Amino acid sequence: MIYGFDFDGTLVTSWTATPLDGARARLAALDPTARTFVATNQGGPAYRAVLGHAKYPTVEDVVTRLVAGFRLLRWWPDQLLVCCCAGRDTAPYWRAEAAAAAAFDPLLKAALPHVHCQTFINPYYRKPQPGMLIAARGVGLEERRDAMIYIGDMESDEQAAAAAGAQYMDARVWLSGSPA
Ligand SMILES: [Mg+2]
Repeated sequence: MIYGFDFDGTLVTSWTATPLDGARARLAALDPTARTFVATNQGGPAYRAVLGHAKYPTVEDVVTRLVAGFRLLRWWPDQLLVCCCAGRDTAPYWRAEAAAAAAFDPLLKAALPHVHCQTFINPYYRKPQPGMLIAARGVGLEERRDAMIYIGDMESDEQAAAAAGAQYMDARVWLSGSPA
């Protein structure tokens, strides 16, 4: 089984590194032989670059928060997939998304050396599109046929799971202790 997770609103309180109630215990109870990944849309740095609003995070802010979140959860996924696409199809955003991905890559590699980290800029990888979930299947060809369950808190998570042929579980249900 492959367990995939959204990050904000699923494992941590959105835009913080604070684990949601139950998340640490649920992660600790996962089958240790299962493969795991986190797939998260992080368009904020591209918005910040284009719009210049400090309310949006920098790439460094996002990496710091992801790493702190995993540390507080006492859990690290096998794979971390980050979509830098902001979902705005104009040239300033294309450039900002490419710059964000180029900045993410070395920071994630340094901060999470034991996690297979990938960044994406193509809209196909931005949930509700299924690209990240399909990419998560691609590591370890012998495991391609493993069943996948994706746990998230938004309709876009459910849509991505459906389009990727994965099962879906709402984070509130998973956090409450229902078997995944
Ligand atoms: Mg979420």
